[in-house]
Amino acid sequence: MTRLVVAVGGNALAADGTFEAQQRTVAKTAATLAETEAVTEAELVVTHGNGPQVGYELLEVEAADTPERPLDVLVAETQASLGSLLQRSLDADLDRPVAAMVTRAIVDPDDPAFETPTKPIGPWYTEAEAEAKPFTTKQVGRGEKSYRRVVPSPEPTEVPETDAVSALLEAGQAVICGGGGGVPVARTPDGFEGVEAVIDKDYTSHHIADGVGADRLVFLTDVPYAYLGYGTDDQRPLESVPPEEVRRYLDAGEFAEGSMAPKMRACARFAESGGEAVVASIDDPAAALSGETGTVVQKSSDS
Ligand code: ADP
Ligand code: MG
Repeated sequence: MTRLVVAVGGNALAADGTFEAQQRTVAKTAATLAETEAVTEAELVVTHGNGPQVGYELLEVEAADTPERPLDVLVAETQASLGSLLQRSLDADLDRPVAAMVTRAIVDPDDPAFETPTKPIGPWYTEAEAEAKPFTTKQVGRGEKSYRRVVPSPEPTEVPETDAVSALLEAGQAVICGGGGGVPVARTPDGFEGVEAVIDKDYTSHHIADGVGADRLVFLTDVPYAYLGYGTDDQRPLESVPPEEVRRYLDAGEFAEGSMAPKMRACARFAESGGEAVVASIDDPAAALSGETGTVVQKSSDS
């Protein structure tokens, strides 16, 4: 049986921002996945983003007079909320039981990413509000409220749950894991501790796909292709590309850091170890999974 990892974008899942809209997109995505032949004939792992959802959690923490929760706990909360929504929808439609797993992503505390936090998260502040915050903020936009909290975004070194994911797949279950890029943790002498960071789910999804020996890794996002000349008059979709070509485009800056670059880096890595990686639109998962649309990254047959 083939092993398939489908990584669903957090933005693509959030739709217009209401809970009902999110539930509808989750249900629609799950239903389409469940009736797609590439899914019914494969062992299935679903990972997902959480950008907008963890943003709401941060707003709530600020607005409510409740005890602070560190960022790693907020990520775990979105794994539970989005994971259980996905689980409920997939369970209704899929031909097998569905498990949702709280998943960690181990980071190296000496990663240079910790020296310069780059990832903006949560609400926007004025300069005065930003200065009063107990965390690092940075001016990331224009206008009165142009500051946001910024956190480091290191790459994970390991996802400790991959063996558990494999065991569940072997037991005939579908698995939802790696939500929001994983709960960020660092190793300590006694185990693990949470760290203040946000991990791109694209890297975590690659670790999971690699760790469970998946054959295909499919990123469902809000654009139908990775493009060259993205946003210019000369925009061209990439249809089928070998990983070495993807590396060249990455070096040339064709894919924006923080959005398409992590996906294409993950695709190149996965393809280099022999798998097939795809970036395609969440609007038509069936077409994406059957290979009709989307950017397919795979070693060329003669390499
Ligand atoms: P996800 O939640 O699926 O990870 P992201 O927002 O991180 O979504 O990544 C998808 C976004 O990447 C697109 O909406 C698009 O704006 C952006 N992007 C940047 N560079 C490119 C490119 N070269 N081709 C396509 N999309 C790109
Ligand atoms: Mg992303």
